[in-house]
Amino acid sequence: MYDVVVIGGGVIGAFVLRNAVKRGLTACMLEVRSDVCMGQSKANSGIVHAGFDAAEGSLKAKFNVLGNEMMPSVASELGVKYRNNGSLVVAFSDEDVKTLYLLKERGEKNGVKGLEILTKEQLKKLEPNVSDKAVGALFAKTGGIICPYELTIAAIGNAMDNGAELMTDFDTARIDGGFDGYELIAYDGRSVRARTIVNCAGLGSRKIASLVGDNSFTVGGRKGEYILLDRESGDFVSHTLFFTPTKKGKGILVSQTVDNNIILGPTAEEVTDGATYTTAEGLAAVTAKAKEMCDNVPFYNTITSFAGVRAYCDRHDFIIEESKASKGFINCVGIESPGLTSAPAIGEYVVNELIGRLLPLKDNKNFNPVRTPDYLFKRLSREEKNEIIKKDATYGRIICRCEQITEGEIRRALRENPKAKDIDGVKRRTRAGMGRCQGGFCQPYVAEIIADELKIGLDKVTKSGDGTQILVGKTK
Ligand SMILES: Cc1cc2nc3c(=O)[nH]c(=O)nc-3n(C[C@H](O)[C@H](O)[C@H](O)COP(=O)(O)OP(=O)(O)OC[C@H]3O[C@@H](n4cnc5c(N)ncnc54)[C@H](O)[C@@H]3O)c2cc1C
Repeated sequence: MYDVVVIGGGVIGAFVLRNAVKRGLTACMLEVRSDVCMGQSKANSGIVHAGFDAAEGSLKAKFNVLGNEMMPSVASELGVKYRNNGSLVVAFSDEDVKTLYLLKERGEKNGVKGLEILTKEQLKKLEPNVSDKAVGALFAKTGGIICPYELTIAAIGNAMDNGAELMTDFDTARIDGGFDGYELIAYDGRSVRARTIVNCAGLGSRKIASLVGDNSFTVGGRKGEYILLDRESGDFVSHTLFFTPTKKGKGILVSQTVDNNIILGPTAEEVTDGATYTTAEGLAAVTAKAKEMCDNVPFYNTITSFAGVRAYCDRHDFIIEESKASKGFINCVGIESPGLTSAPAIGEYVVNELIGRLLPLKDNKNFNPVRTPDYLFKRLSREEKNEIIKKDATYGRIICRCEQITEGEIRRALRENPKAKDIDGVKRRTRAGMGRCQGGFCQPYVAEIIADELKIGLDKVTKSGDGTQILVGKTK
């Protein structure tokens, strides 16, 4: 029996799992899909928010500010790219300027350090491409950027390297028993026993809670669509540019990503199906707002568009508490933005405070917080590259030319926790296929490497789990 079963392999589940093993607990993650990080945590803006947005006293405000402070060291331990680029909330009217002062005041009450109101001239000096119609900005120097899937996968991998287990394709049909003796039974007959359960299932979290008789919240979906520009335009802006929020929300942002792309979006549209297709209307709305924010946006460098669906709750704040319906069952639900930023702090709180009230904790002396980063081959010096190639010649063969990803890195992603099993899994772990050609050149080679590593036929290689085979048979 595990001390903790975490349901849901997103960024919140990742940090609960990691902290559980750090505090000497046995832990297992159950993910309904074929791989981890396929929900909100894979498709978002990747902003490490400073913490001036959320209402004073809310869980959002508390965990945002704590998570923001923790992120640089967590990213460094996990070998994940993070950049403290600073964010700017841009004002376009006198009314907006008044809001900037309110945001500054709220941020300071939330504990955000280094907030400053900038004049138009100061703003233009920092970001020359901002529209001439801008009149000022709120500068948050603690704002940052991170790759959300790199962070999630690294935290789960680090937890697994320290003893946590992962079961994918685990669709829970029933939860029997109670605290100190839960049994989770999947539709395919597999079962897992647990002392405590942490529900981090995002859009699926209401269904999971209802299995223990907890119907105390509802979960809605709000889709956000994005446009991504190639690295060639990577220095178009260097800070994260937000519109001044209105009653309708924060609006779209224009930002550099940690991989030096430019990201534009997201929209906010209520959806019921959780589907992440983009629409002509959504992308037109992103285009129009980006043009309002900046002059001469290099749309000619668009390489892809994508969407993510926020899982929000009717309580309009994060719900992070033991369920009143079932002792030892903890809900981490309604974790919309700034959930990515907050994840390291939420993970600590859930384990140290909520599970700590139920089970004895101790520091795991064998816990190693450091995960060796992928070699990130392209960033190494010629000498360093040669040293690695001497030991493993697969690092001498470039597979993804756009992102300069080697065969060695792809094979490593298929062997290292949590192991990739398909083309999208390799993509999220290595960036092979994320460049200008979007996998047009490298996908067949990636498929061959997967087939070779997993000892399966090429016709069994999938893009993203069952039913997404790339090849169906021979034509000749
Ligand atoms: C468009 C958008 C932009 C955002 N921008 C930012 C940002 O810039 N900064 C920021 O801090 N936050 C941002 N967020 C919020 C952030 O992405 C989320 O708060 C965070 O990813 C939530 O993580 P999670 O683990 O709760 O959910 P998810 O990542 O959705 O993970 C839930 C997991 O549970 C799995 N699951 C579902 N049902 C079951 C089941 N029955 N059994 C087992 N597993 C199940 C899913 O497959 C999924 O893997 C944004 C979100 C969106 C959608």
